[in-house]
Amino acid sequence: MTKKKIESCAFCGRKATETEVLIPSAITPGVYLCSDCADSIHDILQEYRGESSSRKGARHDNAMPALESIPKPREIKEYLDQYVIGQDSAKRYLSVAVYNHYKRLQQPQGDDVDIEKSNIVLVGPTGTGKTLLAKTIARLLKVPFTIVDATVLTQAGYVGEDIESLLTRLLQVADYDVEKAQKGIVFIDEIDKIARKGDNPSITRDVSGEGVQQGLLKLLEGSVVNVPPQGGRKHPEQRMIAVDTKNILFICGGAFDGIERKIAQRLNTHTVGYGTDAARRRINADSYLNYVAPQDLKSFGLIPEIIGRLPILTHLEPLDRDALRRVLTEPKNAITRQYEKLFAMDGVKLNFTPEALDTIVDKAIEYKLGARGLRAIVETVMIDAMFDIPSTADKEFDVTADYVRAKLQQSHYELNSQS
Ligand code: ADP
Repeated sequence: MTKKKIESCAFCGRKATETEVLIPSAITPGVYLCSDCADSIHDILQEYRGESSSRKGARHDNAMPALESIPKPREIKEYLDQYVIGQDSAKRYLSVAVYNHYKRLQQPQGDDVDIEKSNIVLVGPTGTGKTLLAKTIARLLKVPFTIVDATVLTQAGYVGEDIESLLTRLLQVADYDVEKAQKGIVFIDEIDKIARKGDNPSITRDVSGEGVQQGLLKLLEGSVVNVPPQGGRKHPEQRMIAVDTKNILFICGGAFDGIERKIAQRLNTHTVGYGTDAARRRINADSYLNYVAPQDLKSFGLIPEIIGRLPILTHLEPLDRDALRRVLTEPKNAITRQYEKLFAMDGVKLNFTPEALDTIVDKAIEYKLGARGLRAIVETVMIDAMFDIPSTADKEFDVTADYVRAKLQQSHYELNSQS
């Protein structure tokens, strides 16, 4: 009498009573695979294919936060207001662009309307808050975000970084989760540095100009590019990772030094012959940037294809005296607040008198350092106090206008400005 063979999984030996179901082989009778092993195989395959391993949750797009949980443009701007002074126009454009980016990622597929991405270009003098805006918005975002510098880029084959390496950092912040990186945002700083140098496109080899723009175009318009996971060319053996840039939002920033002249030229030629002297006078030289238009970027040396891929163009204002004064004290992370915190940790109350703040601003303007210089000036003014105060019993320290002037006089700042 033959004993009936007990059915079990050919992989792990589990019996029918020890698993949810035994799946029979299609060709060999009596051979089974248990549901536990099937689940494990599924996970292994997902990992092998580079997909996220959560079987219970969303595998693809569902990982996105629900639109209701995303801050509305108005809320995004209010958040930016806490850290960045002024720059209303840029803030509004950025808030809408980021919000729409989320919408686009969640748009229902299959209908005829495809919401395309709207990459952005921010034009504004150096030290007016372009990078600060980008960094601040990054804190609010629930998609991978990175800031890269266009100045390191060169055309493929030359010394420098290939265009594709722009996406390496994005991959890194997304923990090499390609799906996630493909929904990220990249801030490209100093985009103006890859402008064509002359009007004539190719008199000389233009290693850092038009060739780079052509390369960048590929990323902006959306294509699958091979990204070196560790960046650079130091690791020639590394396996490239294919990244689709279709859904990656690009925000570009640049000072575009001298673009005001191009804007002025355009505005003046347009008004000639129409008797609009009054209109012309109304355009104050300082505010030419208000009128920046795509054709000015072209005159500056960006190729039209790139400009076409950066449909949102907005500007940042130069910071005037009033704005610089506010930068010192108002943002949540304001410079004076940082020093107050440093002193408070030693139990010392630090006070900047209003006149001291005015003097710091005056000096920043006098030395032509703008917002970037405020920090350096305050640092110079405070260095002696930071050295001495912790060893004294003082519980309060006042920074007055005289103190600011005296400390700056001892420093290299005054020496430089006298030379
Ligand atoms: P850029 O426009 O050249 O990217 P940044 O954003 O790097 O300028 O600004 C340099 C520094 O100046 C910032 O870290 C910040 O401390 C200060 N700053 C510049 N603009 C502003 C602003 N609008 N509001 C507050 N701080 C600012």
